[in-house]
Amino acid sequence: MKRYLICFLALIVAFSSCTKKARKVTRPKLVVGLVIDQMRWDYLYRYYSRFGNDGFKRLIRDGYNCQNTMINYLPTFTAPGHTCIYTGSVPSINGIAGNNWHDNVTGENVYCVDDDKVYQVGDSSKKASFSPRNMLTTTITDELRLATNFRSRVFGIALKDRSCILPAGHTANAAYWYNDRSGNFVTSSYYDSAYQNPSWLIAFNKKNMADSLVKMNWDLTDSLLNYTESTCDNCQYEEPCKGTDEPVFPHKFDMMSKAERLGAIKAMPAGNTLTFAMAKACIHGTDLGAGEDADFLCISLSSPDYCGHQFAPNSVEQEDMYIKLDKEIAAFLDNLDRDIGRGNYLLFLTADHGGAHNPQYMKDKHIPAGIAFNVTDDLNNYLKGVYKKDVKLVSSIMNYQVFLNDSILASDRTINRDEVKQSVRNWLMKTMPQQYSVPVSYVIDLEDMGRMAVPEPIRTMVINGYNNRRSGCLQIICNPGWFESDHFAGTTHGSWNPYDSHIPLIWYGWHVPKGETHEVVNMTDISATLAAMLHIQMPNGCIGKPLKGLIN
Ligand SMILES: [Zn+2]
Repeated sequence: MKRYLICFLALIVAFSSCTKKARKVTRPKLVVGLVIDQMRWDYLYRYYSRFGNDGFKRLIRDGYNCQNTMINYLPTFTAPGHTCIYTGSVPSINGIAGNNWHDNVTGENVYCVDDDKVYQVGDSSKKASFSPRNMLTTTITDELRLATNFRSRVFGIALKDRSCILPAGHTANAAYWYNDRSGNFVTSSYYDSAYQNPSWLIAFNKKNMADSLVKMNWDLTDSLLNYTESTCDNCQYEEPCKGTDEPVFPHKFDMMSKAERLGAIKAMPAGNTLTFAMAKACIHGTDLGAGEDADFLCISLSSPDYCGHQFAPNSVEQEDMYIKLDKEIAAFLDNLDRDIGRGNYLLFLTADHGGAHNPQYMKDKHIPAGIAFNVTDDLNNYLKGVYKKDVKLVSSIMNYQVFLNDSILASDRTINRDEVKQSVRNWLMKTMPQQYSVPVSYVIDLEDMGRMAVPEPIRTMVINGYNNRRSGCLQIICNPGWFESDHFAGTTHGSWNPYDSHIPLIWYGWHVPKGETHEVVNMTDISATLAAMLHIQMPNGCIGKPLKGLIN
């Protein structure tokens, strides 16, 4: 009888544990966000023949490829991009209106992750450091933490502070970025004290990997003759490295001072090597993906952006950057297979924005393009003449937006703010182009969008990008091919045009079917899709929709 009772009880225990397990929501062991800074969608195909089978091609072949993923706000810069990917929201709502902005209430200029209440761990001077506090919404990473009662762990890793802090969210265990003065990955006192200076991070930094990598210099992977997707190595569209006269291979850094070397790594493929090495150290050091609940690792590769800015898209440098990045991605996927297990991790690869061709390169090919210089001083001189007052009525032009000096306008009742706006619009659209030859498509009154006749997608992008506290009152839209810069070499981004707003988006791994869609999807859909796949709440400012083809 006793034996029957034991068997019966054992059955009950087995059954209850079985139902308990069955009730648990299935999630991947690890979610990996891989953001490639300044990667335009077409680079997947521009360099396709240069890639091996196990990097980008593995993701394209075995993953789900959203071929037409568009950024749906302005400006297309790094901080708004990373924030949109992880919040599913736009600057109008999430508050990250640029890398920098002018605060219309305090009158101060703000860097997106500035926080004077925290300091960099290990900095005895305790000067202000960084945190995600300026971001007004939750991220998908915050939502995962909330959904699992903070059992899931979240880390962000990038060379750029903003590119790991904003993705990892308000509740991250830690975000680690590269300090180019020390060559170390660092964090701020904002984060979980257990992860501020863990032993695995100390051990990683002790290796001085950044300096060793730069000393190896940057040479081509292949014979120069095989770089068929680029202009010749030495051309006027590129900015030479510090201390050198010509932008040619091999780029030598071993003769530089240590301080210069530690800065130089950012624009080299070795910057990606360093970032992936740090990601692997974090996975091993924290046993990421080994717990009962899904963990999240946000990786951003900043080096392609530094390289693009310096050498522009048609350079041998960029072609080599992507050839080497492809190999790094292949090795990282291989590592994830071993550490987390094939099919146990969900990975998405995307970008924070694209980038334009160098304007002089375009002009040399008879395509309209050009550089627009910042005209704040000239505009103020013009307004001084109109209002016969020695004041600066325009405080700045930033993020292609005009910020008026509202403290002067509030105190001087003889100047009408609406008239000033109209004068600025007229000057920018009519008078200024004759003087400076900068073609402006539109100057949009952001405070009166209802009366502005502008086509889609510009209209929606402008509305989504306008934050009433952190944006200017007028938005300048230059003609396609034109951008603001203070030098002729290299390139930049920030506009509505497809070269800045069309980004790659490939999903891979856990519960991802093989396939592709050519339907237009938005950057804001990334977090909505993650929320649906993970069965967690969308971030609290999310305006995106889950991707149909990916979720059955
Ligand atoms: Zn960027």
